[in-house]
Amino acid sequence: MPEDLVEFDREITDSESEKAARKLLAVHIRAKKHHVYTLIPAGATLPCLENVVHFSSWPNPKDFSGGANSTEYGSALAIHEIEEAHDKKLCAGCPFRVECLAQALSVGAANSAGGLDDEGVFGGWGRKSRQKIGAKFDSLRRAYVRGVEGGENPMPADDIARIDAEAKEGVPWR
Ligand code: SF4
Repeated sequence: MPEDLVEFDREITDSESEKAARKLLAVHIRAKKHHVYTLIPAGATLPCLENVVHFSSWPNPKDFSGGANSTEYGSALAIHEIEEAHDKKLCAGCPFRVECLAQALSVGAANSAGGLDDEGVFGGWGRKSRQKIGAKFDSLRRAYVRGVEGGENPMPADDIARIDAEAKEGVPWR
């Protein structure tokens, strides 16, 4: 199991988050270059599709009459944690964890500020960890685009060349 990309039951550190964001950027760039918008191949056998219990939605306090301090909201959060743990176990057996996380972040970046509102588990990563990595991924992605376009370039040229090479070689950590 690639330890560096799967958070499962613990919170990821800043350096792990940075490392993972760079790898995911390479996947994202590779997909863009090949005009591939769905990183997971059509027809792939995915544990989440085989298991109807997959989808750990985050409860919204507004849906509970007593708000965030109500017992009902507390119970919903507890259920969410159980569902999320279940979903992460499913993802652990999936061969497309990296692609799944890269896709969730790429789509999120296009739709909102880093896709921070996304529900559920993607690639074994829950919402909180995706919030952490989503911001890093998005700023790296923006820096890369600026560098490629020849405008302001906060990312060193060497970094761009290396990420580009990784993207050409395919998924670099397999
Ligand atoms: S990694 Fe993604 S595709 Fe695989 S089981 Fe988890 S959510 Fe489904």
